Amino acid sequence: MPQVLVLGGGQAGLAAGYFLRRAGLSFQLLDAGPAQGGAWQHGWDTLTLFSPAQHNALPGWAMPPLPGGGFPGRDAVIAYLAAYEARYAIPVLRPVRVTGLHRAAAGLRAEAEDGRSWTAPAVISATGTWSAPHLPDLPGRARFAGRQIHSAQYRRPQDFAGQRVLVVGGGNSGAQVMADLDGHAAALAWVTERPPVFLPPEVDGRVLFERATARWQAARQGLPPPEGLPAGGLGNIVQVPAVAAARARGLLEGRPPLARLEARGGVWPDGARFEADAIIWCTGFRPALDHLAPLGLEAGPAGAPVAVTASGRCLAEPRLWLLGYGDWTGAASATLAGVTRAARQVVAEIAAT
Ligand code: FAD
Repeated sequence: MPQVLVLGGGQAGLAAGYFLRRAGLSFQLLDAGPAQGGAWQHGWDTLTLFSPAQHNALPGWAMPPLPGGGFPGRDAVIAYLAAYEARYAIPVLRPVRVTGLHRAAAGLRAEAEDGRSWTAPAVISATGTWSAPHLPDLPGRARFAGRQIHSAQYRRPQDFAGQRVLVVGGGNSGAQVMADLDGHAAALAWVTERPPVFLPPEVDGRVLFERATARWQAARQGLPPPEGLPAGGLGNIVQVPAVAAARARGLLEGRPPLARLEARGGVWPDGARFEADAIIWCTGFRPALDHLAPLGLEAGPAGAPVAVTASGRCLAEPRLWLLGYGDWTGAASATLAGVTRAARQVVAEIAAT
């Protein structure tokens, strides 16, 4: 029996694995994916990171810089995560989808879809969000006769060649997908809940991470957020080159929310219409936590789906830690750069326990 089970073998699971090895604990990762790379395996072809490679380091080893500089894309991240896993000999079993985590005499028992089970005295859940796409409840959604996909399923613009496409959602995914479709789709409309917020061109993921760190350090000392720290969270739009170019072409003007969908497209409150062949929902993700249902955990404050301590330890089940799902499990923990701090803290607590 391993001392620690880690559910999920994406960037958060690997960061945990790195610190578990350093702490000399025995551990096993279980990952539902068919191959290395976590959520990045499912990203679209041109998905681009928010900052240069060297600012996207997991613990111990940074992503090798791209030969020509610039922001790495999906395939570079997958290659990095696969090499990282091999470099630190992190033991991952694939594909193993954990369907339920149960209380047992010797710890917590993870039961998998294929009938196998593993028990350990401590469990880190790091299953990410990609497998739980969120779709808003817009009236008439079921009546739309065209194709509907979530950004989680979007791959390449050629799949929408000559089509009229409605893109819903004003974050980074929406902006990148709009930029990607330009020149392929016959007509495009971008619907955003509020006017899209573009970060200044010089603000990339590194700057956002530094701001998140400053806020985290202040919160840790019980202080208010540092004065003069510009607003701008990880949800605001980073002007990666394709987005900056699309914006300069006037493509990225968000339109207000629709009143409803009909069989042939979207209708705004003032009666204006957009006839669409397809809708791409870039409306975010929720933490993939179905496997925790058997534990009957309660939600936490401020929208946290599970009540956890500042280090992500579950209040109702102290043998369980949650890692990498978002700020509620550690500031910027859902990013390559930010997960190190959260993973280090989780493993330090487990080792102390
Ligand atoms: P994942 O990568 O999703 O890994 C979780 C793993 O757990 C998966 O392999 C999954 O198969 C497995 N799993 C799920 N459920 C189970 C289960 N029940 N049992 C077993 N295994 C399971 N992040 C950055 O750091 N920098 C960026 O610049 C950046 N840019 C982005 C740009 C866009 C447009 C988008 C959409 C995202 C971006 N992200 C970026 C975010 C990043 O993709 C995710 O936040 C990240 O993949 C989360 O890592 P994770 O390890 O927590 O989850």
